[in-house]
Amino acid sequence: MKRRRMIYEGKGKILYEGPEPGTLVQYFKDDTSALDNAKKAVIEGKGVLNNRISEYLMTQLNLIGVPTHFMRRLNMREQLVKEVEIVPLEVKVRNVAAGSLSKRLGIEEGTPLPRSIIEYYYKNDALHDPWVSEEHITAFGWASPQDLDDIVNLTIRINDFLSGLFLGAGIKLVDFKVEFGRLWENDYMRIVLADEISPDCCRLWDVTTSEKLDKDRFRRDLGGLMEAYSEVARRLGILPESGQGEAKGPMLVK
Ligand code: 5GP
Repeated sequence: MKRRRMIYEGKGKILYEGPEPGTLVQYFKDDTSALDNAKKAVIEGKGVLNNRISEYLMTQLNLIGVPTHFMRRLNMREQLVKEVEIVPLEVKVRNVAAGSLSKRLGIEEGTPLPRSIIEYYYKNDALHDPWVSEEHITAFGWASPQDLDDIVNLTIRINDFLSGLFLGAGIKLVDFKVEFGRLWENDYMRIVLADEISPDCCRLWDVTTSEKLDKDRFRRDLGGLMEAYSEVARRLGILPESGQGEAKGPMLVK
């Protein structure tokens, strides 16, 4: 069998050359890291769940007209995606105070924010992904003012849609991180959602109990990460009650 060419290896995923030009295979690892990579573990099966959850959320976003890099899931750990030029930004959206916002501004975790807040971080491991403003982004050319406009508009739509989708499954979308890429089609370029959307990059709290159903279970040594991710998948209708099987669509949680 021909060995695939690896394009990039990140903390949680590997990108391989795809079967056709302009495509890549995105492989979800079980590796988990936090605290700027100081804390690491391998959590068996996490990559499989993230692959399924991200497939589901990207598919739903594609259906409402949010352009994404996602094409289709190939197997338990891999999905076929369009090759894009990644915009070197982590875009975070916050609906409720938590994590670094609570720490930095002294706002108690769980406090609803007066409105959703979008923040930008420059993707650079050596600099520990510093917080930056639109001024830095356009001045240093990481994204043009038009790119940023598209990114903000897409981010607002993604937040509105996902907040409603999760709420229907009894989950509060506290905050999340997304990444965007430039997709070139002949001479035409458009900004599309890239990377993944999974409990690794979202804060998801049970609506009634505020139980954490996301990567904070690992970051804060709460245990039960696989159970939490499986619960998210189950509520989204991706896993039936027994844990295995095909997608059926979201389940209304009362
Ligand atoms: P915070 O800035 O509070 O640490 O994170 C805000 C949101 O962005 C959280 O949902 C968190 O999971 C996500 N996030 C922050 N940094 C990263 C990162 O480096 N990788 C991933 N996957 N998600 C991140």
